[in-house]
Amino acid sequence: MTRVLLVEDEQKIADFVIQGLQSEGFDVVHECDGLMGLETICNKEFDLVLLDIMLPGKPGTEVIQSMREKEIKTPVIMLTAKSELSDKLLGFQLGADDYLAKPFFMEELIARCKALLNRNQNTNTDIISVGELTLDKIIRRVSWRGRSMILSQREFTLLEYLMRSPGNVFSRQQIMQFVWGIDFNTQTNIVDVCIQRIRRKLINTEKNELNEFPIESIRGIGYKIRKSD
Ligand code: CA
Repeated sequence: MTRVLLVEDEQKIADFVIQGLQSEGFDVVHECDGLMGLETICNKEFDLVLLDIMLPGKPGTEVIQSMREKEIKTPVIMLTAKSELSDKLLGFQLGADDYLAKPFFMEELIARCKALLNRNQNTNTDIISVGELTLDKIIRRVSWRGRSMILSQREFTLLEYLMRSPGNVFSRQQIMQFVWGIDFNTQTNIVDVCIQRIRRKLINTEKNELNEFPIESIRGIGYKIRKSD
C-alpha cells in the first residue's frame, strides 16, 4: 500500500486531502506541525510526503532542508498558498519534487501524486526518456532522433516538467509558475517562445518532423508531452 505523510496545519484542507487520498487507496498519516512532521519522516518509511509551507513548529522549507540533509530521499510535493510563491522556489532549491498551489482540485493532487510515485519507481537515474526523447539531467542535454543539444536552464526545466508526466496537459499558467516562478495575469507568450526554441533545437525542418515531435500544443490550454506507445 502507498504510504503518504501529510504535514498540514489547516484542518479543513487536511480533511479534504486525507479523504481524497484514502479514496484512492492510499494509507495517510497526518501531522499538523513541522517539527512533528520531520520526526515522523525520520522514523517511518513513506512513499510520498505532502508538505505545507506555513506550519507551526518548523516551516515546510526547513523540514525539507533537514530531510535532504539527512539523506531522506522520499519525494515531496509542497502545498503552497499563492502568497508563498517565493518560498516555493526556495523549496525547489532545497529539494522538493513538485508543488501545488492552494486551492487545488483533488483530481490534480491525485494526478501529481501518481506521476511522482511512477517517476520514482522507474527512474532513479539522471536520465528521463519518453519515447525517442531523452533528457540527461546532469548535463542538461536533450536528444531526439539522433539530434542532441544542450538546453538553457529554462528550456530544460520546462521540458523536464512536461516529461515527468507524459500525457498530462499543463496550462501556460502552470508552466509559467513552475518554470519562471511567477504568477502572470497578463498575456505573455514566454512559454510559447521557450517551446519554440526547444523545437527548433531538435527538429530537422527539412524532414518536416514537427507533427512527430512529442511536444504537443493543446489549443487554448497549453502543452503536453505525448505518451510513447
Ligand atoms: Ca499552513
